[in-house]
Amino acid sequence: MSWNSIIGQNKLKEQLQNIITNNKIANAYCIYGNQGVGQDAIALEFIKSLLCKTSPSNSCGKCKNCEMISNFSHPNLNLLFSMPALKSVKSKENGNNSEQTYSQSEKVKKEVHAQLKIKSANPYHTLQLEDANTILIEQVRDMQKNFISLSTYAEGIKFVLILNADEMNDVSSNALLKILEEPSKNSTFILTTSRIENLLPTIISRCQLLKCLPLANDAIKDALVEKYNLSEENALLLAKISNGSFTNAVDLHSSNLDELRNKALKSFEVIINSNTREVIKHVQNILSEVDKNRNLLKTRLLLIYYLIRDLLMLVEETPSLLINRDFKDELEKFLIKSDSDSCQSGMNLCESTIELLESYVYLPLVLNSFAIKLKRLFN
Ligand SMILES: [Zn+2]
Repeated sequence: MSWNSIIGQNKLKEQLQNIITNNKIANAYCIYGNQGVGQDAIALEFIKSLLCKTSPSNSCGKCKNCEMISNFSHPNLNLLFSMPALKSVKSKENGNNSEQTYSQSEKVKKEVHAQLKIKSANPYHTLQLEDANTILIEQVRDMQKNFISLSTYAEGIKFVLILNADEMNDVSSNALLKILEEPSKNSTFILTTSRIENLLPTIISRCQLLKCLPLANDAIKDALVEKYNLSEENALLLAKISNGSFTNAVDLHSSNLDELRNKALKSFEVIINSNTREVIKHVQNILSEVDKNRNLLKTRLLLIYYLIRDLLMLVEETPSLLINRDFKDELEKFLIKSDSDSCQSGMNLCESTIELLESYVYLPLVLNSFAIKLKRLFN
């Protein structure tokens, strides 16, 4: 890894290199943008550039320091991310379950190890730990006690990297805020997020903000060709349906895209053409198939979004703009039930449902409501 391996984000790269050259390192940064556009990769590259022995300001990617940052073992790097909670102890003051500690069972440790290994090879990977959706107060306290407060570290800045920082709850956010309010010399916090609006404004105001833009299709395509050996055509298809997110593109690639596209088409067909009882049964099938994996469910909805988008292209008689070209005949069968409005509303419905999946909603409810609404739009 070096700055060259960061996809797109040229303006931000330049901004960071200026910060490094001028040696004006802030106490806290928040790197934000849509999901999967490279927040974590950029944060890691920035840390490497500041700790690299061989090639300061541009990280060699090969020295011991660079290597240890890549695999998250550098003593100057403390990584925080959502962990599964072990138990909840009722807080005395407010009686809610805020004082949670995290699980350190062998199973969880193994899972963390495996996930970090994937992330080390591909910094665009989003960590996926079962039942982990909150950065807990205990983690923030441990970081302060065992990292920030200790002085026996290797030379150079100490970095705390908080992945998906928006997953801190109120108590952990407030604990972090206290730490940020009393900046300790020689330590820098980097928060990455795709939902900056969920961070406490008081935390945001303590951070220097660094914005990642959505990636251009061509940038994603080129990276897929280079890193994953894909053909230009397949890479472009993936780039188009990945919404400017390299992480989405890689997830789609590793999960057999053609099979997923066929499943999405099948779902769309059933929802539009079957009676309500069959639709609800199909929703149950989808739920048992994705087995609570929200990312898989999101992918299904995203692919349905692009089917409807293609249907709109057919309604508007611009078939050359199809993304799912091979589905043209299948999609034409829906033309009789479609117009521009139904397509546009269907796409909006997919988007708002995908957004809902980001919060902790009850999946069957969301998905049934999605299917019934979609059915109404096209009937
Ligand atoms: Zn290096």
